[in-house]
Amino acid sequence: MATDIVYLNGEFMPLEEARIPVLDRGFIFGDGVYEVIPVYSRHLFRLPEHLQRLQHSLDGIRLANPLTDAEWTKLAHDIVARNQGDDQSVYLQITRGVARRAHEFPGHVKPTVFMMSSPLVTPPREQVEKGVACITATDFRWLKCDIKSVSLLGNCLLKQLSVDAGAAEVVMFRDGCLTEASASNVFVVRSGVLLAPPKNHLILPGITYDVVLELAAANKIPLDVREVPEHEARTAQEIWLTSSTREVLAVTSLDGRTIGDGKPGAVFRRMHALYQDYKQTVMRRAA
Ligand code: PMP
Repeated sequence: MATDIVYLNGEFMPLEEARIPVLDRGFIFGDGVYEVIPVYSRHLFRLPEHLQRLQHSLDGIRLANPLTDAEWTKLAHDIVARNQGDDQSVYLQITRGVARRAHEFPGHVKPTVFMMSSPLVTPPREQVEKGVACITATDFRWLKCDIKSVSLLGNCLLKQLSVDAGAAEVVMFRDGCLTEASASNVFVVRSGVLLAPPKNHLILPGITYDVVLELAAANKIPLDVREVPEHEARTAQEIWLTSSTREVLAVTSLDGRTIGDGKPGAVFRRMHALYQDYKQTVMRRAA
């Protein structure tokens, strides 16, 4: 297997050689933010939007952006070029840097900047055609879920609940309304209308979420961005997960109860096709 080449604080190196000090605030406090950018045919999908969200996350933790968008763009292209495979998943992380352990921000510390790339793993055909099972849980995470923070313990605990139950994801509710899943956004379809929880501090503003909303609007799929009460989600005809690596995936059972007729619904099939077409168009334009 070819060695992964990663970037750490100004240098490219094999993954095995990348080291950070134990006092890095990412390790000690989870004090950092990250992004995951899918790469199709060596094209970084929606990179400007990912960089915009990165800036939002950095602003949210009061950390200055260590690089310009042009520098991030060059770095991301370099990482893709140095790694194998046309379809990749680029991960980047910035932490507040290395300092003696104290909760308050350290003065004048250089942030740690890390980037790596892995092969992109999208859902197997069977999952796309049959849908996946999900469970539900109370969303017990903090109230700044719009920040793509590396402090993912809440998301990890929640995700493990779904793994323990043999399910693909955990769909979450807070105060009686749908929020998102542990690593994806959630949409529902009721009476032919696509419903999406609004972007606020309770969910991550997904890049795929935006693509789905844009495709729905452009293709006259009725759409309503509003709070989705729990009972409306549970009795929806369709439920979808969206994320950069899952793309758009149908949920066909929730807590063991069948959603719709137990197969991915008509609106899902339309959106899935639109999403694949959109990806092809973007890649053709970039070629
Ligand atoms: N919500 C959470 C909690 C996530 O972790 C993710 C993806 N990592 C998403 C939503 C989907 O975001 P995107 O479409 O940008 O991948």
